[in-house]
Amino acid sequence: MSGLELLDSREVMLGSTPVARLLPKRQHRTVGPWCFADHFGPVDVGVGAMAVGPHPHIGLQTVTWLFAGEVVHTDSLGSEQVIRPGQLNLMSAGRGIAHAEQSPAASVGLMHGLQLWVAQPDATRWSDPAFEHHAELPVVDLSGAAVTVLVGSLAGETSAARTDWPMVGLDLIVGTSVEVPLEPSFEHAVLVMSGAPSIDGTTVSVGTTAYLAPGSTSVRIDGSARVVVIGGEPFEAPIAMSWNFVARTRDELDDAHRDWAGVIAHGGSQRFGDVRSELGVVPAPGYPTGG
Ligand code: MN
Repeated sequence: MSGLELLDSREVMLGSTPVARLLPKRQHRTVGPWCFADHFGPVDVGVGAMAVGPHPHIGLQTVTWLFAGEVVHTDSLGSEQVIRPGQLNLMSAGRGIAHAEQSPAASVGLMHGLQLWVAQPDATRWSDPAFEHHAELPVVDLSGAAVTVLVGSLAGETSAARTDWPMVGLDLIVGTSVEVPLEPSFEHAVLVMSGAPSIDGTTVSVGTTAYLAPGSTSVRIDGSARVVVIGGEPFEAPIAMSWNFVARTRDELDDAHRDWAGVIAHGGSQRFGDVRSELGVVPAPGYPTGG
């Protein structure tokens, strides 16, 4: 039985760069703890260089994964990290962090990647912020595909990346066809990054996401393609999301907005800290900054 559900995406502009927003969807606000997915590029950095100034997060982990290009991450913990294809940046916001992301000055060629967010559970969402860079990740050679394990486990290989909730993230370069084992207690989504593979018998193109409810023990992918599989145990609670903040209640979101508006108005912040960046600090769109 195929429990495949197809989800479309919508184009949003990040500065001058169009991205495909794959998550959240009304019918699936979360897939496991994954609560946000933007697919950007492939785009020439001459046209679509990334330049996102200091901005805050709470209650989520950012997962940055590139297929082409480079991005420099700086944050209010003092981290400064270039990320390249095959490497993982994982930032856990907890109660609050700020960061900036931009293409290196000398960067040329194509930029292509995924910006993913993972909702943090109650157990960790008020904890200290943290940042991890993983230069090396396990690669599993499934018959028919090379699979990089970003987070979680596959076929006995486990990523060293921190997980606050049972979850998985896999990057697959599919040659002809592959059967990917899945944890049946997880729900999953297959994000198509290139190609137009058949997923459990249904052709899925770039910009469309295939959702699989809990209970699936595997997914079959046919056709040359690059796909990312994300999944996890259904999340503990409905989340509330506003701009770059993930919480549970409107009040928590309002507090975060008020705290960031204070940074815009006065600079400096106990909660979010300071980011070393030549880029301007980003105000929350449509939010008063007089605080
Ligand atoms: Mn961010």
